[in-house]
Amino acid sequence: MSVNSLDPSREEICRMGYAAVDAMSSYLASTRDQRVYPQTTAQEIREKLEKELPHEEVGFEHLLEIFREVILPLSRHNAHPRMFGYVQAPGTAIAALADLLASTLNANLTAWRSAPAAVEMERLTINWIKEILGYDAEAAGLFVSGGSMANLAALAAARQSKAQSDLADKGARCLSRTMRMYCSQETHHSIDKAAALLGIGRENVRKIAVDENFKIRIDDLVAKIIEDQEAGHLPFCVVANAGTVNTGAFDSLAQVADVARRFNLWFHVDAAYGGFAVLANSARPLFAAIREADSVTLDPHKWLYLPADCGCILYRDPQTARATFAHEAEYTRVLDEGADEAFAFWDYGPELSRRFRALKVWMILKGIGLRALGQAIEKDLACAKHFEPLVQTSGDFEMLAPVELSIFCFRHVPPKLQRALANADEAERFHIENQLDALNERLLTELQHDGSSYLSNARINGRFSLRGCVMNYRTTLHDMEILLSDLRRVAAELTNIG
Ligand SMILES: *Cc1c(COP(=O)(O)O)cnc(C)c1O
Repeated sequence: MSVNSLDPSREEICRMGYAAVDAMSSYLASTRDQRVYPQTTAQEIREKLEKELPHEEVGFEHLLEIFREVILPLSRHNAHPRMFGYVQAPGTAIAALADLLASTLNANLTAWRSAPAAVEMERLTINWIKEILGYDAEAAGLFVSGGSMANLAALAAARQSKAQSDLADKGARCLSRTMRMYCSQETHHSIDKAAALLGIGRENVRKIAVDENFKIRIDDLVAKIIEDQEAGHLPFCVVANAGTVNTGAFDSLAQVADVARRFNLWFHVDAAYGGFAVLANSARPLFAAIREADSVTLDPHKWLYLPADCGCILYRDPQTARATFAHEAEYTRVLDEGADEAFAFWDYGPELSRRFRALKVWMILKGIGLRALGQAIEKDLACAKHFEPLVQTSGDFEMLAPVELSIFCFRHVPPKLQRALANADEAERFHIENQLDALNERLLTELQHDGSSYLSNARINGRFSLRGCVMNYRTTLHDMEILLSDLRRVAAELTNIG
């Protein structure tokens, strides 16, 4: 082989492809048997990845061997049924194959004429997502790299739409008032980041207090908006959470929509985590007011179980998106009925070259079907709901937040410390709480090293919390019981070491 390796024969492609798919199938067949997290170091991995510049070709067998022998075993296994950390999707075979085919076609979805069939497939799947969500059929939308990029695009459109000046051309100096936006203190940090990148400024993101269920407090929201108005600022946007990453709290969309209408604010919903829970009958009522949102962030690479990367942004009024992202001459041009072929995604988001993300969305929606997807999501919700009473009746664990979707926040409280807490005065309580923080932090690290289950953490009312999220069609109620027994086993080992 030589340069020809860039353009292998059909037989060669089949040989490589069968070997790769064989690696894939044996990996996916053994998800439950892996440790969730590997015991390794950066040093070990670097030594195993041959670091010499490859001047000469190396056979595919060897490359696949590195994938099998180094990459697979030294990875965190996101497909594992007890991978409860962060908000992590497991991926799925049909989507992995879709990515293979999408890269084979190598479509670049900048505009209709660049990729006619792929662009139509993206428009179709975006329409399906709008319909699933109960969103406006006239809304515009596109796939982006993830929820962070979707939030950035949404806030850019919000700012442009409410700036009352020629912001896109003249920049922030044309603003006579400070633009202020609002979201609960539980909001994902990508909102702050977007505000920083867009020149809105982190300090102009007002953090609204939450109630005992970690939902945005409407009284505090209204108070802060009025305070800003009286100070001469320009309130322009409110973000509601359709599932926070900390506790899964779902803000009241109807109440936030009311406030947005009353104060003429752009209403953005961050549904990156919770959005596809709309497919589960038990969660659907939470979404009743979503059609009032000016923009919605979704993450198909979360609860649609897809592999990274695939985020999604929807804008209720396509014109607001064009005014933000299109070249001026372009967005003022009226697209008439016959202009479908003039369509360009670059008018609706920050990116130009874009890969064919829609193929895997289409394959999972159509290849699995909404009914089965809804059942899988319902089962994830049921796993988290099952965990709550296990903890509440345990005697050595306690919940730190209510379970609303599939996130659960809790901590280990050894009976001895529980009794001490019950009788403690304020000073003693402070001391014991700090002890519990330290204990649970160690417990988390040890659990991750142990490898049977994986959790991450959150800060809940100032305290260190173990935090899990069920987002895997493989997870069973029994896995929730295994998680608790893993924690007990690891906690006992900690006590034995002292
Ligand atoms: C995950 C998440 C984000 C960020 O999405 P990425 O795809 O990781 O960029 C934003 N908001 C919420 C609520 C999320 O859960």
